[in-house]
Amino acid sequence: MIQAQNLGRSFLLEGNPPSLLPVLKNVSFEIPEGQCVALLGPSGSGKSTLLALLAGLDSATEGSVSLNGTKLDTLSSDDLTEFRAKNLGFVFQAYHLIPTLTALENVMLPLELQDVPRAECRKRAEAWLKRVGLDTRMDHLPRQLSGGEQQRVAVARALVAEPRIVFADEPTGNLDSVNAAKVTELLLSLRGRCALVLVTHDATLAGQADRVLRLRDGEVESDTLHTPAGARP
Ligand code: ADP
Ligand code: MG
Repeated sequence: MIQAQNLGRSFLLEGNPPSLLPVLKNVSFEIPEGQCVALLGPSGSGKSTLLALLAGLDSATEGSVSLNGTKLDTLSSDDLTEFRAKNLGFVFQAYHLIPTLTALENVMLPLELQDVPRAECRKRAEAWLKRVGLDTRMDHLPRQLSGGEQQRVAVARALVAEPRIVFADEPTGNLDSVNAAKVTELLLSLRGRCALVLVTHDATLAGQADRVLRLRDGEVESDTLHTPAGARP
């Protein structure tokens, strides 16, 4: 489902002389269908860089990423956009809603990118906004919404097309505890239905994952499968 093979990412630092900053080194793992993975590690350890590579938002300098059997670096930029719209959902810490579109229009977007008929896009987007508790906020612009509301719109947008893979980069990092709990509950409601990779400092989220991957200095420090609670000796 998600395959990272010997992934590396270095950044060119300007200067005299210019230098290469290696940020990810030789990262390999496979995430099967439906697994919920918490990605942990200190600030600066490469978590966001890794998620961006897995989601095709950035290109690796070494190695490759395959999603559902498709190697991302073999796709043209148009095909990658279409592939992402069909298969991936992404929730960022800073929401990243389109400021000129209403909540409803933001959530309709991934479906429109897949040429779903407009009436159907609207119906499905409305249903998701209801599900995240925003039925009375559909026609609001992002700046007319609180941070928690914006993140719930972003979650609805990430999930509306029922992607098989969902990435979330510190999705509760900017939220108060009430909104964080709502977003956590929404993401955990996906368990088993899609592969989920979550960067989080939230102990509740990490504790409920099937697997915990820890990065340190751009390398996988540990990779632990959680035994289901009932099965512990
Ligand atoms: P994390 O999400 O774990 O906090 P990041 O993946 O954002 O870490 O960053 C890892 C390291 O890579 C940091 O030292 C950061 O400064 C560096 N880095 C990230 N993006 C760039 C970039 N575009 N250019 C140079 N360095 C970068
Ligand atoms: Mg980060």
